[in-house]
Amino acid sequence: MGGLRPFRTCAAFAAAGIIVLAAPATVEVRGKLPKGGAARIRLVYRQGVQVESKALPKRFLAERGEAWASFQELTPEGRQWVLRTLFPEDRWTAGEVRHKVRYPELESVWLMSSLFMGHGQHYDKLQAANPSNPEKLRVGDLWVIPHALLAKELGGAGDVKVDRSQPEDELDDEAKVAAYRALLTFEKDEEGPYAAYHIRKGEALWTAAVMRYTDRVDPKGVNDLAVEIARRSGITDVRGIQPGQLVKIPIAALADPFQPEGTAALAEEREVRAEVRRTPRMEAGPRLKGTRIVLDAGHGGVDRGAAGNGAWESDFVYDITMRVRRILEQDTDAMVSSTIRYPGLGFGVRERITRPSGEAEILTTPPFANDGESPNAVSVHLRWVLANDLFASFARSGDPLKTLFISFHADSLHPTARGTMVYVPGASGVPATFSLGDRRAAKVKEMKVGAHVRFTSKEKLQGEARSRLFAEALLKALRKDDIPIHGNRPIRNIIQRAGKSFVPAVIRFNSAATKVLIEVANLTNEEDVENLKDPDFRERFAAAVVKAVKAYYRN
Ligand SMILES: [Zn+2]
Repeated sequence: MGGLRPFRTCAAFAAAGIIVLAAPATVEVRGKLPKGGAARIRLVYRQGVQVESKALPKRFLAERGEAWASFQELTPEGRQWVLRTLFPEDRWTAGEVRHKVRYPELESVWLMSSLFMGHGQHYDKLQAANPSNPEKLRVGDLWVIPHALLAKELGGAGDVKVDRSQPEDELDDEAKVAAYRALLTFEKDEEGPYAAYHIRKGEALWTAAVMRYTDRVDPKGVNDLAVEIARRSGITDVRGIQPGQLVKIPIAALADPFQPEGTAALAEEREVRAEVRRTPRMEAGPRLKGTRIVLDAGHGGVDRGAAGNGAWESDFVYDITMRVRRILEQDTDAMVSSTIRYPGLGFGVRERITRPSGEAEILTTPPFANDGESPNAVSVHLRWVLANDLFASFARSGDPLKTLFISFHADSLHPTARGTMVYVPGASGVPATFSLGDRRAAKVKEMKVGAHVRFTSKEKLQGEARSRLFAEALLKALRKDDIPIHGNRPIRNIIQRAGKSFVPAVIRFNSAATKVLIEVANLTNEEDVENLKDPDFRERFAAAVVKAVKAYYRN
């Protein structure tokens, strides 16, 4: 049974003018506005604070959008009003806030950090400032947000490091790539042509030169090229590079968007960008009616995927995928399927992930066990075979343009990298036709329809363009929720590993109109892993994915 549960009013809270809706999922408060009138404020489990926007005065709201504005959409004045109204027992003195926990089921250290310090990411600093407080909140606990940590717009110093130092950060992907390109000049030395780049303040060779301007992201590939670039540029101490240092990036290593004028690679890049601009947004109802979504969690069973810092890929991305599935089923009318299921766990989500699950099955007919008997390559191919079969059935009565495939993974990149990356199927990396050979297949019903694909040049181009548009919607949703995003070109259309460039198979042979592979986090980065282990983070990530799907389809 779907549908909304009826609101339940809790007598104790009602007496204080507070309504608890379907406790403990939401708390709602009616706040008196300074110049008369009132607006409802609600604190939603794992989603944070929202305010009824129509009642708010202009100076409280940066931009009028949906019926409920998120805390991030409020002006500094609006934020202060909301915090003082929602938490009337808090004491604000000389740029410091003494916060009293009022709703322990709904509040978290992450939420406090995001409300008072501007980013949930800084929860560890808040914890360090309140060392004797338990992480599990209790009513009446006192948390001090010192002046140094309190956000500037709330009267504090906002002295928390945020890794958003580049001027391009607010641009969309195309403009950002163009801005990066404008920083290069093309020159020549005795070793041949190179792109000249001058390191800017706070930048490192691995990230600024290698990860941004080339398709290399894996630790060895990045290191090897960094060493090569340092040698050619006459740099002896890679860690001691000063701003202004000239670095020479070999032309052959540059990613397509940075290739010199007149090259085929750059022409292709521009063709894709033009296609993105003329691709209209697909329409769907507000509850995504008429869309067909297939969710894939990477790896599973004998294949744990990447690992690092005490976490491994399979179970963590499975949990995020199941959270996305649950939210889509609860909040939308989209038709949703999964490619993989962990027996024993089903489609459930977990608060704690303690050990790798040993079993997983691809949901073909019959199911295909990801066990030791079968090579993992088969399982990878069966995911797109299954998805294509589902999309083909859907196309008999539905609009094939409203099909979406999302694959969830986590990476092990160079440790200086962190945050989410999104892979889209680069048009030039998708074949015109492909049939899965018997050697890499399995005897499942879906092979008949799903194992054979054909793409015209136009379809390849549109596939990349639509997937890029979705990737942008996703990054926007993540950014809005303070979820870290890879600092250098987070949207990529090709993976480079061990000297080979390719589009990942699950999206390369996929017949969905829109298809992406999300690398949720970098497992070699400690902070990323801390996030991944946190069920609140996984829930926030999943919620942001659903927001992106809704934003992607016009209604
Ligand atoms: Zn993976």
